[in-house]
Amino acid sequence: MRKNSVIGVDMGGTNIRAAVIDSAGEISYRDRQDTGSDPVAALKLLLDKVIAQANCSISAIGIATAGVIDHKSGVVLRSPNMGPLAGVNLKSEVSTWHNLPVVVENDANAAAYGEKALGAGVGKQDFVLLTLGTGIGGGIVANGRLLGISAEVGHIKISTNGNPCSCGDIGCLEAYASGWAIVSSAIKSMEEGAESIMKQMNNGNFYKITPEDIYSAALEGDALARGVLREAGKHLGTGIASMINIFNPQAVILTGGLTGAWNIYVDAAVKEASKRTLKELFSEDIIIPSTLGGDAGIIGAAFLALEAS
Ligand SMILES: [Zn+2]
Repeated sequence: MRKNSVIGVDMGGTNIRAAVIDSAGEISYRDRQDTGSDPVAALKLLLDKVIAQANCSISAIGIATAGVIDHKSGVVLRSPNMGPLAGVNLKSEVSTWHNLPVVVENDANAAAYGEKALGAGVGKQDFVLLTLGTGIGGGIVANGRLLGISAEVGHIKISTNGNPCSCGDIGCLEAYASGWAIVSSAIKSMEEGAESIMKQMNNGNFYKITPEDIYSAALEGDALARGVLREAGKHLGTGIASMINIFNPQAVILTGGLTGAWNIYVDAAVKEASKRTLKELFSEDIIIPSTLGGDAGIIGAAFLALEAS
């Protein structure tokens, strides 16, 4: 029997990736396109290319994108890194291009669904997934279903009078534990005179450091880098403790670039979460890495599309 094929798309601020995926999760073709200043035009160009190249008929399109999505209408209500997308009804726009059913989902929610279908969430009925990159996103699976909610866990409050966040509020988890927060914290300490080998990186311009630079400095034993990662991990653990207390999940699955610093950043989070979670709800192996990595969103979007096809 011929397998049903769909297109999964992951839209990010830098590039848009798409893949043709069948109901067994096999990827037969993939391509990408720079997002540029007009994400909708870039998406159209990419989908035209992928549909022309796909060696099978396509029954639906699933799109994962950062931001807050109105699940009923398919309107992108808020887009942190693709400004022109805000207010666009992506679902109705894309469905007119190729006359196919279209599903639009937040990228972290889609990643959770991908992990449920083919990754670290297989066989798990209840889990929370966190994407730890420049920002922090989340997706929640409960009773075996992806919750169609915003799940903006990066903006849960961990301080009443704390750091300013990208959302305009203060004290959010993202303002303490995300990639941008870690970089800001390291820069602030160096501005205040802290010694660090990070001052010699990037031709001596410490304003250009990345989370990867901080991790590599930490691996060389740099005290500032290690301290910044540990502190961020501690805050992450505080946020995770709240999520475990609320959702009582079987697992908290972590994905995204910052998980590369697992042995400092995530270890600090596990230690903190173990202290701050209701002890009946915590287990030492509850926090686990994703297995699909960067493909979780694209696979999740495809499986959501399969359901709609
Ligand atoms: Zn916030």
